Amino acid sequence: MTGKNEKSQHPATIAAQALGWIDEETRAISPNLQSSTTYLRDPDNQYRSGRKYARADNPAFDQPEALLAALEGGADAMLFSSGMAAATAVFLSLAPGDHVIAPKVMYWSLRNWLLGFAQNWGLAVEIVDMTDLAVLKRAMRPGKTKIVWTETPANPLWDITDLAAVAEIAHAGGAVLAVDSTTATPVLSRPIEFGADLVMHSATKYLNGHSDLIAGALVTRMEDEQWAKIKTVRAQIGGVLGSFEAWLLLRGMRTLFPRVRTAVANAQALAEHLAANPNVAQVLYPGLRDFPGHEIAARQMTGGFGAMLSIRVKGGEQAAIKTAAHVQIWKRATSLGGTESLVEHRASVEGAGSPVPADLLRLSAGIEDVNDLIADLDQALLAAM
Ligand SMILES: *Cc1c(COP(=O)(O)O)cnc(C)c1O
Repeated sequence: MTGKNEKSQHPATIAAQALGWIDEETRAISPNLQSSTTYLRDPDNQYRSGRKYARADNPAFDQPEALLAALEGGADAMLFSSGMAAATAVFLSLAPGDHVIAPKVMYWSLRNWLLGFAQNWGLAVEIVDMTDLAVLKRAMRPGKTKIVWTETPANPLWDITDLAAVAEIAHAGGAVLAVDSTTATPVLSRPIEFGADLVMHSATKYLNGHSDLIAGALVTRMEDEQWAKIKTVRAQIGGVLGSFEAWLLLRGMRTLFPRVRTAVANAQALAEHLAANPNVAQVLYPGLRDFPGHEIAARQMTGGFGAMLSIRVKGGEQAAIKTAAHVQIWKRATSLGGTESLVEHRASVEGAGSPVPADLLRLSAGIEDVNDLIADLDQALLAAM
């Protein structure tokens, strides 16, 4: 497997060619699909190939992991069976009694896991408003706080974390900063450049981009002791991706840049249009100038503000649910980051304890013609009133 020195290339080139690796034996440009779970031991009882068993390590991961590490500017990456498997592996590498801090606005299922399983297991979990640096500073317990977890832009209100400021606070207290960068994607944001130690992705979303596989990933700034612990968690708990899913994920990542760029342009146009729609009470999108995190997002994101936005529908919860009922082109479904645009009433999903208002619809802008997306939402909003 060889590739030209990717350091001199633009990220979009690296992604389109998946690092330019070729198979030396066949000269294949697309990797062979290799599905073996086990590897031949040498006659003298050694494993010189470095491979033993596919729960610990799988050659199908090599290229997608190397590609993601290159795109994020990290030292190494690890694929997991889902975004949740990736995120929970970070916390499971800690010990009971350790303190962790997570944001009020974040992916709901991980918040529920932290407040349920992780607390029962013995982690001290503190939820803070990550946009308020004074609150974060007060929550830090130097020496005890091991991880500051954040997400930016954060589901589904799109709160922006000031990554450089939060990294400084975390590091001053001896903690690691881990960032769920699923909605930002490496196209728009590289958290390691702003001081993050770990970057997490639900690769189910933009990295794969076609709503046809569940996968997760972590990227590390350094191959340190904690990274080795996380690797052990993956091998022992076994949240590993299948070979075919890894192969599909690499195929999806080749088109990451054009997909994200198109979806981001659609989201910006949608946000500006919906802000003027009389049936919309509020548009939440970091690309709008009056959005509270806009200035920070402009500083730490390049090429746009993401392809996720939310609207608060005039007329409240029932009007929001009815709007979703009337879409024809948008698809009423959970998830995000696919080529197709998705709309979802989030309060129905997140339930009690969620900061999400009942009149909110979350929108994942896809890569369709934006005029169709705008016309469909306009008619659905009107029909719901
Ligand atoms: C979907 C998602 C996750 C969870 O990922 P899965 O692949 O569904 O396990 C975590 N964080 C964010 C921001 C997500 O959108």
